[in-house]
Amino acid sequence: MKIFISADIEGIAGISHWDEASLHKPDFSIFQEQMTAEVTAACEGALEAGATEIWVKDGHGTGRNLLASRLPPPTRLIRGWSGHPYQMLQELDETFSAVVMIGYHAAAGAAGNPLSHALTKGLAELRINGRHASEFLLNAYTAALLKVPVALVSGDQALCDDVVAVNPSIQTVPVKAGVGDSTVSLHPGEAVRRIREQIAHALRTDLTSCGLDLPEHFRVELRYKEHTDAYRNAFYPGAKLKDACIIVFETPDYFEVLRFLLFTA
Ligand SMILES: [Zn+2]
Repeated sequence: MKIFISADIEGIAGISHWDEASLHKPDFSIFQEQMTAEVTAACEGALEAGATEIWVKDGHGTGRNLLASRLPPPTRLIRGWSGHPYQMLQELDETFSAVVMIGYHAAAGAAGNPLSHALTKGLAELRINGRHASEFLLNAYTAALLKVPVALVSGDQALCDDVVAVNPSIQTVPVKAGVGDSTVSLHPGEAVRRIREQIAHALRTDLTSCGLDLPEHFRVELRYKEHTDAYRNAFYPGAKLKDACIIVFETPDYFEVLRFLLFTA
Protein backbone atom coordinates (compact mmCIF):
# COMPACT_ATOMS: atom_id res chain seq x y z
CA MET A 1 0.00 0.00 0.00
CA LYS A 2 1.53 3.26 -1.22
CA ILE A 3 0.28 6.44 0.49
CA PHE A 4 0.70 10.09 -0.54
CA ILE A 5 0.58 12.74 2.20
CA SER A 6 0.17 16.38 1.17
CA ALA A 7 1.07 18.73 4.02
CA ASP A 8 0.17 22.36 4.64
CA ILE A 9 0.51 24.52 7.74
CA GLU A 10 -2.47 26.90 8.01
CA GLY A 11 -4.74 24.09 9.23
CA ILE A 12 -2.52 22.63 11.96
CA ALA A 13 -3.40 22.89 15.66
CA GLY A 14 -3.10 26.36 17.13
CA ILE A 15 -1.69 28.33 14.23
CA SER A 16 -3.38 31.75 14.10
CA HIS A 17 -1.15 34.35 12.38
CA TRP A 18 0.89 34.64 9.17
CA ASP A 19 4.07 35.26 11.21
CA GLU A 20 3.65 31.71 12.55
CA ALA A 21 3.46 30.30 9.01
CA SER A 22 6.48 32.13 7.56
CA LEU A 23 9.96 30.59 7.43
CA HIS A 24 12.51 33.05 8.87
CA LYS A 25 9.98 34.68 11.25
CA PRO A 26 10.78 34.05 14.94
CA ASP A 27 7.32 32.58 15.65
CA PHE A 28 7.68 29.95 12.92
CA SER A 29 9.70 27.23 14.69
CA ILE A 30 6.94 26.21 17.16
CA PHE A 31 4.55 25.63 14.27
CA GLN A 32 7.20 23.99 12.12
CA GLU A 33 7.50 21.50 15.00
CA GLN A 34 3.72 21.02 15.14
CA MET A 35 3.40 20.61 11.35
CA THR A 36 6.15 18.00 11.52
CA ALA A 37 4.47 16.26 14.48
CA GLU A 38 1.11 16.07 12.67
CA VAL A 39 2.70 14.73 9.47
CA THR A 40 4.80 12.24 11.47
CA ALA A 41 1.61 11.04 13.18
CA ALA A 42 -0.01 10.61 9.76
CA CYS A 43 2.98 8.53 8.60
CA GLU A 44 2.88 6.40 11.75
CA GLY A 45 -0.87 5.81 11.37
CA ALA A 46 -0.34 4.80 7.75
CA LEU A 47 2.45 2.38 8.69
CA GLU A 48 0.23 0.89 11.40
CA ALA A 49 -2.44 0.29 8.76
CA GLY A 50 0.06 -1.54 6.55
CA ALA A 51 1.53 1.17 4.30
CA THR A 52 4.71 -0.02 2.64
CA GLU A 53 5.63 3.28 0.95
CA ILE A 54 4.83 6.84 2.02
CA TRP A 55 5.56 9.92 -0.04
CA VAL A 56 5.17 13.32 1.65
CA LYS A 57 4.88 16.62 -0.25
CA ASP A 58 5.81 19.64 1.85
CA GLY A 59 3.11 21.84 0.35
CA HIS A 60 3.37 25.14 2.17
CA GLY A 61 5.09 28.36 1.09
CA THR A 62 8.68 27.57 0.16
CA GLY A 63 8.00 23.82 0.40
CA ARG A 64 10.81 23.73 2.96
CA ASN A 65 9.07 23.46 6.33
CA LEU A 66 9.07 19.87 7.56
CA LEU A 67 11.92 18.54 9.73
CA ALA A 68 12.86 15.54 7.60
CA SER A 69 14.78 13.59 10.23
CA ARG A 70 11.66 13.31 12.42
CA LEU A 71 9.66 11.43 9.77
CA PRO A 72 9.76 7.62 9.92
CA PRO A 73 12.50 6.16 7.65
CA PRO A 74 10.26 4.62 4.94
CA THR A 75 9.07 8.15 4.09
CA ARG A 76 10.24 10.02 1.00
CA LEU A 77 9.96 13.79 1.27
CA ILE A 78 9.33 16.14 -1.67
CA ARG A 79 10.62 19.66 -0.91
CA GLY A 80 10.48 22.87 -2.94
CA TRP A 81 8.42 23.36 -6.12
CA SER A 82 9.14 21.63 -9.42
CA GLY A 83 6.79 23.81 -11.48
CA HIS A 84 4.51 20.83 -12.24
CA PRO A 85 0.81 21.84 -12.25
CA TYR A 86 -0.03 19.20 -9.59
CA GLN A 87 1.75 21.50 -7.12
CA MET A 88 0.78 20.17 -3.63
CA LEU A 89 0.40 16.65 -5.13
CA GLN A 90 3.61 16.67 -7.19
CA GLU A 91 4.75 13.09 -7.95
CA LEU A 92 1.28 11.60 -7.36
CA ASP A 93 0.42 8.93 -9.93
CA GLU A 94 -1.96 5.99 -10.41
CA THR A 95 0.21 3.65 -8.34
CA PHE A 96 -0.86 5.24 -5.02
CA SER A 97 -3.65 3.67 -2.94
CA ALA A 98 -4.73 6.89 -1.19
CA VAL A 99 -4.08 10.58 -0.64
CA VAL A 100 -4.06 12.08 2.87
CA MET A 101 -4.13 15.86 3.43
CA ILE A 102 -2.73 17.29 6.68
CA GLY A 103 -2.90 20.90 7.92
CA TYR A 104 -5.38 22.00 5.25
CA HIS A 105 -7.49 25.15 5.64
CA ALA A 106 -10.66 26.98 4.65
CA ALA A 107 -10.94 28.49 1.16
CA ALA A 108 -10.18 32.06 0.12
CA GLY A 109 -13.14 34.26 0.97
CA ALA A 110 -14.53 31.69 3.45
CA ALA A 111 -14.70 32.15 7.22
CA GLY A 112 -13.40 29.55 9.69
CA ASN A 113 -9.67 30.26 9.73
CA PRO A 114 -7.79 33.57 10.16
CA LEU A 115 -5.42 32.20 7.48
CA SER A 116 -8.10 31.21 4.91
CA HIS A 117 -6.79 31.51 1.36
CA ALA A 118 -6.40 29.57 -1.88
CA LEU A 119 -2.99 29.03 -3.47
CA THR A 120 -1.72 32.59 -2.91
CA LYS A 121 -2.61 35.51 -0.71
CA GLY A 122 -3.24 37.59 -3.86
CA LEU A 123 -6.57 35.86 -4.48
CA ALA A 124 -9.63 37.18 -2.66
CA GLU A 125 -11.73 34.31 -3.99
CA LEU A 126 -11.43 31.23 -6.18
CA ARG A 127 -14.66 29.65 -7.42
CA ILE A 128 -15.20 26.52 -9.48
CA ASN A 129 -18.68 26.15 -10.97
CA GLY A 130 -19.91 28.84 -8.58
CA ARG A 131 -18.60 27.19 -5.40
CA HIS A 132 -15.69 28.38 -3.21
CA ALA A 133 -12.83 26.06 -4.12
CA SER A 134 -10.46 25.18 -1.28
CA GLU A 135 -7.05 23.64 -1.85
CA PHE A 136 -8.70 20.41 -0.65
CA LEU A 137 -11.17 20.56 -3.56
CA LEU A 138 -8.50 21.46 -6.12
CA ASN A 139 -6.27 18.60 -4.98
CA ALA A 140 -9.11 16.10 -4.59
CA TYR A 141 -9.99 16.76 -8.26
CA THR A 142 -6.33 16.16 -9.17
CA ALA A 143 -6.45 12.87 -7.25
CA ALA A 144 -9.68 12.04 -9.15
CA LEU A 145 -7.86 12.57 -12.47
CA LEU A 146 -5.52 9.76 -11.38
CA LYS A 147 -8.34 7.72 -9.79
CA VAL A 148 -6.70 7.86 -6.34
CA PRO A 149 -9.16 8.18 -3.40
CA VAL A 150 -8.76 10.75 -0.60
CA ALA A 151 -8.76 8.80 2.66
CA LEU A 152 -8.53 11.60 5.23
CA VAL A 153 -8.22 15.37 5.62
CA SER A 154 -7.12 17.19 8.79
CA GLY A 155 -7.40 20.93 9.27
CA ASP A 156 -9.79 23.57 10.54
CA GLN A 157 -13.43 22.77 11.31
CA ALA A 158 -14.80 24.88 8.40
CA LEU A 159 -12.67 22.98 5.90
CA CYS A 160 -13.65 19.63 7.45
CA ASP A 161 -17.35 20.59 7.14
CA ASP A 162 -16.70 21.42 3.50
CA VAL A 163 -14.98 18.06 2.91
CA VAL A 164 -17.96 16.18 4.37
CA ALA A 165 -20.35 18.23 2.22
CA VAL A 166 -18.37 17.27 -0.90
CA ASN A 167 -17.98 13.58 0.00
CA PRO A 168 -19.12 12.21 3.40
CA SER A 169 -17.02 9.06 2.92
CA ILE A 170 -13.77 11.03 3.32
CA GLN A 171 -12.73 11.02 6.98
CA THR A 172 -11.82 14.30 8.65
CA VAL A 173 -9.89 15.34 11.75
CA PRO A 174 -10.79 18.90 12.77
CA VAL A 175 -8.03 20.19 15.04
CA LYS A 176 -9.19 23.78 15.51
CA ALA A 177 -11.93 26.27 14.66
CA GLY A 178 -11.46 29.84 13.51
CA VAL A 179 -13.52 32.62 15.07
CA GLY A 180 -12.90 35.89 13.26
CA ASP A 181 -9.19 36.56 13.57
CA SER A 182 -8.78 34.02 16.42
CA THR A 183 -8.64 30.23 16.77
CA VAL A 184 -9.94 27.73 19.30
CA SER A 185 -7.67 24.69 19.11
CA LEU A 186 -7.18 21.21 20.48
CA HIS A 187 -4.06 20.67 22.57
CA PRO A 188 -1.21 20.07 20.07
CA GLY A 189 -0.59 16.57 21.47
CA GLU A 190 -4.27 15.65 21.24
CA ALA A 191 -4.36 16.76 17.58
CA VAL A 192 -1.39 14.49 16.88
CA ARG A 193 -3.03 11.55 18.68
CA ARG A 194 -6.31 11.92 16.77
CA ILE A 195 -4.54 12.17 13.40
CA ARG A 196 -2.53 8.98 14.02
CA GLU A 197 -5.56 7.00 15.22
CA GLN A 198 -7.92 8.20 12.50
CA ILE A 199 -5.49 7.47 9.69
CA ALA A 200 -4.76 4.00 11.00
CA HIS A 201 -8.54 3.47 10.99
CA ALA A 202 -9.31 5.19 7.65
CA LEU A 203 -6.72 3.23 5.68
CA ARG A 204 -8.20 -0.06 6.92
CA THR A 205 -11.63 0.82 5.51
CA ASP A 206 -12.92 0.40 1.96
CA LEU A 207 -11.89 3.58 0.12
CA THR A 208 -13.81 2.97 -3.12
CA SER A 209 -16.36 5.70 -2.33
CA CYS A 210 -13.69 8.23 -1.28
CA GLY A 211 -13.02 9.55 -4.77
CA LEU A 212 -14.61 12.64 -6.29
CA ASP A 213 -16.53 12.69 -9.56
CA LEU A 214 -14.95 15.17 -11.95
CA PRO A 215 -17.48 17.65 -13.38
CA GLU A 216 -17.86 17.58 -17.17
CA HIS A 217 -17.25 21.31 -17.39
CA PHE A 218 -15.20 23.70 -15.24
CA ARG A 219 -15.93 27.42 -14.93
CA VAL A 220 -13.11 28.90 -12.86
CA GLU A 221 -13.51 32.40 -11.51
CA LEU A 222 -10.58 34.19 -9.84
CA ARG A 223 -11.15 37.40 -7.92
CA TYR A 224 -7.88 39.17 -7.16
CA LYS A 225 -7.26 41.67 -4.40
CA GLU A 226 -5.50 43.92 -6.98
CA HIS A 227 -7.12 44.90 -10.28
CA THR A 228 -3.63 45.01 -11.82
CA ASP A 229 -3.28 41.22 -11.34
CA ALA A 230 -6.65 40.60 -13.03
CA TYR A 231 -5.71 42.75 -16.02
CA ARG A 232 -2.39 40.98 -16.58
CA ASN A 233 -3.66 37.41 -16.00
CA ALA A 234 -6.63 37.94 -18.34
CA PHE A 235 -4.06 37.51 -21.15
CA TYR A 236 -3.74 33.78 -20.30
CA PRO A 237 -5.05 31.94 -23.42
CA GLY A 238 -8.83 31.49 -23.09
CA ALA A 239 -9.18 33.67 -19.97
CA LYS A 240 -11.55 36.64 -19.96
CA LEU A 241 -11.68 39.75 -17.81
CA LYS A 242 -15.13 39.79 -16.18
CA ASP A 243 -14.70 43.03 -14.26
CA ALA A 244 -11.81 45.01 -12.83
CA CYS A 245 -10.73 42.30 -10.33
CA ILE A 246 -12.23 39.09 -11.78
CA ILE A 247 -11.11 36.76 -14.56
CA VAL A 248 -12.95 33.68 -15.83
CA PHE A 249 -11.61 30.55 -17.55
CA GLU A 250 -13.72 27.65 -18.88
CA THR A 251 -12.68 24.16 -19.96
CA PRO A 252 -13.92 20.55 -19.88
CA ASP A 253 -10.38 19.34 -18.97
CA TYR A 254 -9.30 19.54 -15.32
CA PHE A 255 -5.62 19.42 -16.25
CA GLU A 256 -6.21 22.70 -18.13
CA VAL A 257 -7.66 24.15 -14.90
CA LEU A 258 -4.42 23.19 -13.13
CA ARG A 259 -2.28 24.67 -15.91
CA PHE A 260 -4.35 27.89 -15.78
CA LEU A 261 -3.94 28.16 -11.98
CA LEU A 262 -0.18 27.51 -12.20
CA PHE A 263 0.21 30.66 -14.29
CA THR A 264 -2.53 32.95 -12.91
CA ALA A 265 -2.91 32.25 -9.18
ZN1 LIG B 1 0.03 26.91 3.20
